[in-house]
Amino acid sequence: MKTTGSDRALFYDPGADAARRHPDWVIRHRDLRGVPEVMCPERKVILIEDAQDRATRRCNLAHALAHIDLGHQAQTGVLSKRQELAADKLAARRLVRASALAEAAISAESFEELAHELDVDERMLWVRIKYLQRKERNLIFERLDEKVLTA
Ligand SMILES: [Zn+2]
Repeated sequence: MKTTGSDRALFYDPGADAARRHPDWVIRHRDLRGVPEVMCPERKVILIEDAQDRATRRCNLAHALAHIDLGHQAQTGVLSKRQELAADKLAARRLVRASALAEAAISAESFEELAHELDVDERMLWVRIKYLQRKERNLIFERLDEKVLTA
């Protein structure tokens, strides 16, 4: 699957989403010494670890936006594991459409390649696959049946 030019518009763009729906939040890339992302709800600031690759920064920003949309407020600065998972699941759904996953799975030769094709890191792809809905799972296997198993 080639994803250049106008095809990119089919992909969720967390930066554009933040600018459109949360323009009051400030997003900056910083050296966070390995911490993926830091949020300050009072000041409406999101800091993204700069040392990560592009796909991971994209996932981390999508994760931060999911926290905002889910109304997660960390009074103590630490969110619960349940909230972290909920943010990951929402971010993963936004970042990877089931139809795109199905298409990419046809040609990808490895999990790493699949993540690369979908422009996400492997952790986010794993979350997406683990929590696929039944109808999404069915769609993906139908596509694989058509293209791979019958080839
Ligand atoms: Zn989080």
